[in-house]
Amino acid sequence: MPKVGFKFSPESIERMKTSHLGQIAWNKGKKVCRHSRRFYKRTRNGAPFCIKCKRRNSARYRAANIEQINFRNTLGRYRLTEERFEMLWDSQKGCCAICLRPLSKQRIPGRYVNFRIDHDPVTGVRGILCHSCNTGIGLLKHSQANFERAIQYVRAPLLCI
Ligand SMILES: [Zn+2]
Ligand SMILES: [Zn+2]
Repeated sequence: MPKVGFKFSPESIERMKTSHLGQIAWNKGKKVCRHSRRFYKRTRNGAPFCIKCKRRNSARYRAANIEQINFRNTLGRYRLTEERFEMLWDSQKGCCAICLRPLSKQRIPGRYVNFRIDHDPVTGVRGILCHSCNTGIGLLKHSQANFERAIQYVRAPLLCI
């Protein structure tokens, strides 16, 4: 039984009036994930999936399209469009520009991509090479003078017997 004549103080009445305003609705700012049907916090980009599903979706996409992703990343690194790459590839008939071995666009699992894009910092993309030839010209410091001396040297070695 409440005390007869009991009065709330004006401050506590004020507090009671406003106390519910401090509470936040349990589902405020949350959406239902289209995949897992779980509530998730809305993000600014407005994706209809929770972060768990978003991560799982991108992992699945990556696993299914790894070949294409790697290929596009390689082209992107040299600012090559797919059309320009195909033009280069066709003009070289799918072979290494130096040793003329046939190249493959497919990635061999657990190993490197068969082709390498040869790139000069000044002139841009020069052509498509195999891994060995690309490494070889790199080891000779991309220098024409070095290449010429190497040819001369192989033709007429300084045999010291
Ligand atoms: Zn989800
Ligand atoms: Zn080669």
